[in-house]
Amino acid sequence: MAKILLVEDEPQMQRGVKDNLEFEGYEVDVANDGKAGLKKLLDNSYDLVLLDVMLPQMSGFDVCKKVREKSITTPIIMLTAKGEEIDKVLGLELGADDYITKPFGLRELLARVKAVLRRSEGATGGSAQKMVLGSLEIDFATYNASRSGESVQMTPKEFEILKFLWQQRNKAVSRDQLLTNVWGYDESISTRTVDNFILKLRQKIEDDPAHPKHIITLHGLGYKLIP
Ligand code: CA
Repeated sequence: MAKILLVEDEPQMQRGVKDNLEFEGYEVDVANDGKAGLKKLLDNSYDLVLLDVMLPQMSGFDVCKKVREKSITTPIIMLTAKGEEIDKVLGLELGADDYITKPFGLRELLARVKAVLRRSEGATGGSAQKMVLGSLEIDFATYNASRSGESVQMTPKEFEILKFLWQQRNKAVSRDQLLTNVWGYDESISTRTVDNFILKLRQKIEDDPAHPKHIITLHGLGYKLIP
């Protein structure tokens, strides 16, 4: 299910939108101000962002601008206050995909969210989940991997490991986290298996597998994926 980041400083609004989206089955992460929202967007992978305009620390416009400057293409819906016509125009010019005027009804919000998610899925052929690591390109929706245009053969498990590392990119990921999220609670799998998979993955994605630049070992901790 799609993962949504909600950047909203009004507690009541934040709770209402979060609860309703979760009730619809979406995974919702929240940030209370512009700076925190920007950080979450840079550190994580989301399918959609609901971004309030009037925020402490950094306005929604500035967050939107910064995100697009970093070539992050996650769809953004701006939440603008009533009567702020100029906000809509400015937001769209800065790279937002849509806007909703407060106060809005739940049905309108859900319709916009669904429409924007559908559009972005159409644009990327099934999912907004695409990863680019140097010359390597991976589409997690179609399970296609290519390097400089040449197809790379990977197993479904290897895709899943990469996808999880990509979602957690620039952060330490423990072997246990990988085990739980990729293999589930299969007790016959040990952390040694994780290491073996990582070794194989490096052969496929690193220019120099002996000196990895993308999947880094953190001694005593686990791994970290660096784009
Ligand atoms: Ca606000």
